Amino acid sequence: MNPFTYVRPTTVDDAIREFAAGPNAAYIAGGTNLVDYMKMGSLSAGRLIDINGLPFTGISEHNGGVRIGALVSNTELANHPLIRSRYPVLSQATLAGASQQLRNMASVGGNVLQHTRCYYFYDPSFPECNKRVPGSGCGALKGENRIHAILGQSEACIAVHPSDMCVAFSALDAMVQVRGPKGSRAVPFAEFHRLPGNTPHIDTVLQPGELIASIDLPALPYAWRSRYVKARDRHSYAFALVSVAAVINAEPDGTISEAHLALGGVAMKPWRARKAEAALRGKKAEAETVLAAANSELADAHGYTDNSFKIELARRCIKRAVRLAMEAQV
Ligand code: SF4
Repeated sequence: MNPFTYVRPTTVDDAIREFAAGPNAAYIAGGTNLVDYMKMGSLSAGRLIDINGLPFTGISEHNGGVRIGALVSNTELANHPLIRSRYPVLSQATLAGASQQLRNMASVGGNVLQHTRCYYFYDPSFPECNKRVPGSGCGALKGENRIHAILGQSEACIAVHPSDMCVAFSALDAMVQVRGPKGSRAVPFAEFHRLPGNTPHIDTVLQPGELIASIDLPALPYAWRSRYVKARDRHSYAFALVSVAAVINAEPDGTISEAHLALGGVAMKPWRARKAEAALRGKKAEAETVLAAANSELADAHGYTDNSFKIELARRCIKRAVRLAMEAQV
């Protein structure tokens, strides 16, 4: 691990000032992702700014919805009564991620900002990784790519975003509240993470010095009818091969009036399935209808040597998530 300095400011303004003092500064909260990468040598920071003293805590009702502080732990989020009762898909997705020990330490903001788990990014002994060393190539394209992307990838990078929680945030139309050197701003969750294009080393739209203050969930009164489905190699402590967050609003006769679908494990960002949503709206959730919706979303999907199975897996996960969301009870 490289030498670094460490500070623990107690106000947001001080934290932003400390970041600007550099060099090569990074914010740290739970540390469950950044410290891991710093130990491996895949990421380095010359200055760590510990934000655990900032007032980004608590979960509370806000503008009819719920505000979640960026420093809330994954455990607190998953078990909070407001989340369990009003947004069960978020609780389910959070509990599907990592292990209990990691969920106790990891923060919501850190989960949103975690880096990919591509083997070639993680291990600096691999020379080719455009995400770690821009311009060096992509080791996964012709190497091991079982966990990699089938949607939205580029020739420069085929990595996926590893989060479960973020898939639910995307489906729930969350807003990311950001603080930074130029003040405050709000970013719709679906626009917060980037696809790789020619600049896969840039994960999000955050600007230097900006940090997440909270995640806001809209009222979404029908979000109790929701479900998270995750397919993975082991039943616990494994990243998603494919996951789906489904939130459905349906008429008493079963006609879908609103569908929110997001996929995990398939792209460098949580993948909002707008085509499938449009194909479901106004229809009943019959098997052929949901299959047609999944097919419309996956029409542009393509896999590599080891991961083409994800296309069929995604089709099946969409079908299962929609069915289970339709069966959900208040
Ligand atoms: Fe690096 Fe992305 Fe290629 Fe993985 S997929 S080796 S993160 S450039």
